[in-house]
Amino acid sequence: MPPPTPSTRRLLTAELVSIGSELTVGDTRDTNAGELARSLTAMGVRVGRLTALPDDLDAVTEAFRLGIARSDVVVSTGGLGPTPDDLTREAIAAACGETPVVDPGLEAWLRELWRRRGLPFPELNLKQAWRIPSATILDNPNGTAPGWFVGRPDGRVIAALPGQPREMRPMWADQAVPRLRALGLGTEVAARTYRLTGIGESQVADLLGERLLRTANPIVATYARTEAVDVRVSATAAPPRSAQELVDEAAATVLDKLGPYVWATGETTWSEAIGRRLEDLGWSAAAVEIGTGGSLSALFGDADWFRFDEILREDAPAARAHEPDGGLDVDPGAGPVPGTDLIRFARRARELGGADVGVAVRTRFRSGDTAVSIALSTPAAERQVSRVVFLTGGLGRSRAALAAAAFVLEALRGPASEP
Ligand code: ATP
Ligand code: MG
Repeated sequence: MPPPTPSTRRLLTAELVSIGSELTVGDTRDTNAGELARSLTAMGVRVGRLTALPDDLDAVTEAFRLGIARSDVVVSTGGLGPTPDDLTREAIAAACGETPVVDPGLEAWLRELWRRRGLPFPELNLKQAWRIPSATILDNPNGTAPGWFVGRPDGRVIAALPGQPREMRPMWADQAVPRLRALGLGTEVAARTYRLTGIGESQVADLLGERLLRTANPIVATYARTEAVDVRVSATAAPPRSAQELVDEAAATVLDKLGPYVWATGETTWSEAIGRRLEDLGWSAAAVEIGTGGSLSALFGDADWFRFDEILREDAPAARAHEPDGGLDVDPGAGPVPGTDLIRFARRARELGGADVGVAVRTRFRSGDTAVSIALSTPAAERQVSRVVFLTGGLGRSRAALAAAAFVLEALRGPASEP
C-alpha cells in the first residue's frame, strides 16, 4: 500500500461529513461530528463545517468533492457497511476519480471473520474489502467496516470512519490521528474558561466590550449555559507569541473586568467547586430542600461530601422535605411557610446528617418568578438570604438550586468558614 502522499501542506482546516439517512430523518442523533470537532479543535485545527447527509451517492460525492477543495482534512463517518445503501467508498472513489478494487489482504481478513464462526461468507460483504489506490486501510478491531485514509496529491486528506461510535472512536484516536499528526496536523493552541455567576450573558458582553469579543486571535467568547455564563479565551500561536502568552494576556483583561463573578475555571461543576472547598475545610455537608422538586440534590448528584435526606427522611417535618410540596403540606405558590424559620432546618440538616455544614433551601412561586430562601449553618456562622430567580416551574426550581449553590460556595469561601 502506498504511504499517504508526502506534502508540505500543514493540516489546519477540517470539515466533517456524517453519512446516513437515519441521521437526516432524525432517528439517530449525530454525535460523531461533535466528538470529532472537539477533538480536532483541541489539536488546533479549525473546523469550518459539519454536514449530515442521507445515503445518496450524488450528495455524498459532492460533499467529498467540495470538502477536499476547501478544507485540508475531510473526516466522514458512516456508510462503510456492506449493504447497497452504504455508499461512502463509492462516493470517495468518484470524488477522487479512482476505481475501487478488492484488496486481497482485507478480503482474507474478512473471510476469516466468518470462517471463525463457521458461517458462509456473504458475498455482499466483499465490498468492505474495497480500496482505492490512494487509500490506506484503517483497521477496525471492533467491527467489519475498515476505514480509509486517503492522501490527495495536493496533500489534503480524507479519513473515512465507521458510523458506529464504538467503532469510530478507537479508529479515530488510534489510527487516524497518529497518521494525521505525522503529516503535520494543527497548530499550537491554548484555552481557558472562566465560569461566572450572578451576571447575565449580555452584561458580560457589555463589560468585555465589542473590541475584545470581535478579535480573531485570541478569541474571547461567551456561552450562556444552565449552570453558568462561561467566558472562553482561546488562541493559536502567532509567532513570535505563543498561544499561551496570548491567552494569558486576554485572560488578564477578562479577570480585570469580571473577576468578582468568577466562581470556577474549566469544566468545574458546582458540586465539584463546593466539594473542593469543603475538602479544604475538612467539612461535610447535609441539606434539606423545600419546594424545589429535588433540584438541589440533582445538582449536587451523589458527591461523597454531600449527605442528603436519607436520614432526614425519618424526621418530621423535614421528612419529605425533598419533595415538591416540601412534605410540609404547603403549596409552593401560597406564600411564606407559616411559623418556620429556615435556619432551623439548616441546623437540623447538620445535626441529622452528622455534618459540619447544614443547608436549607425553600422556594415559593411569586408573580411569575421564584423566590428562594437559603439558610446555611456552619461551625463558624449562620446565614440566611433571599433571592428571586427568573420564572417558575421546573426552570425556576433548578435556578433556585443554582442560586443556593452560588450562595453556599461564596459563604464557604468567605465569612461562613472563618471562626
Ligand atoms: P457498520 O459496518 O457498523 O454498519 P457503517 O459505517 O455502515 O458501519 P452506519 O450503517 O452508517 O455505519 O451506522 C451504523 C450505526 O451507527 C447507526 O445505525 C447509528 O446507530 C450509528 N451512527 C451512525 N452514524 C452516526 C453518527 N453520526 N452519530 C452517532 N451515531 C451514528
Ligand atoms: Mg449504514
